[in-house]
Amino acid sequence: MQKHLSANDKPLLELIGIDKSYGPFKVLKNCSLNVRTGETVVIIGPSGSGKSTLLRCVNQLEPADGGDLFFEGRRIDYDKHHVHLLRRDIGMVFQNFELFSHLSVVENIMLAPMKVLGMSRADAHDIAVELLSKVRIPEKADAYPDEISGGQQQRVAIARSLAMKPKVMLYDEPTSALDPEMIREVVDVMAELSSEGMTSLVVTHEMGFARRAADRIVFMESGEIIENASNADFFGGAVNSRTRHFLDQILH
Ligand code: ADP
Ligand code: MG
Repeated sequence: MQKHLSANDKPLLELIGIDKSYGPFKVLKNCSLNVRTGETVVIIGPSGSGKSTLLRCVNQLEPADGGDLFFEGRRIDYDKHHVHLLRRDIGMVFQNFELFSHLSVVENIMLAPMKVLGMSRADAHDIAVELLSKVRIPEKADAYPDEISGGQQQRVAIARSLAMKPKVMLYDEPTSALDPEMIREVVDVMAELSSEGMTSLVVTHEMGFARRAADRIVFMESGEIIENASNADFFGGAVNSRTRHFLDQILH
């Protein structure tokens, strides 16, 4: 998939030399990564390689120890107000959905637009209903999270993020808690969003999604970005030997 990005487009998101340690343990080592507007970048790598930590550094759930993060060309510091504004622009979807169990589906989606953006109840409701159609479960508006399947819950979580009109979506293994028959319905929604130009940074080992939707695939190992390949190079097999070894393990 080519989106004809011009070479001098400023990246929406730019990570330069990000370091992060927990005590003596270096979780991220000099990680640099750009994500341009409209791009979808998939991150793969073994468990413990730092993929979740990298995403958490992007939306400042974890402060990095070193390096720089730029969003829309502006350096992000750890000033609280700044971080608050940044988080409005960044949607995040987790492995375990993290919906509010005491709220209905539609109320889950309405909450942030009303609370954070000060939107009226009626407007938030209209947006929520529209987004439920977008994620293909308009009929579940009044259900509670424990009354719908995992695949449906994850699509509600995606709709809830989209309600804030984020400039980029971060997904952290969004299908890894799902039964196999539900993976497809979530992946299809994500791929559609990507094809419509939603900038996305996705930790996933769903290589079908990567092939369809990713402009680039990044391989992380032991806190380092080992590979950052175009879709064509990656699926054409032009990857380094460590990436190849990892792929052989997950594909066979
Ligand atoms: P991945 O998402 O690739 O599986 P993570 O980013 O979750 O990897 O974790 C990378 C490493 O950092 C792991 O070894 C993990 O145990 C460690 N780690 C993650 N979060 C913390 C934390 N809050 N405190 C200490 N160690 C952590
Ligand atoms: Mg993880």
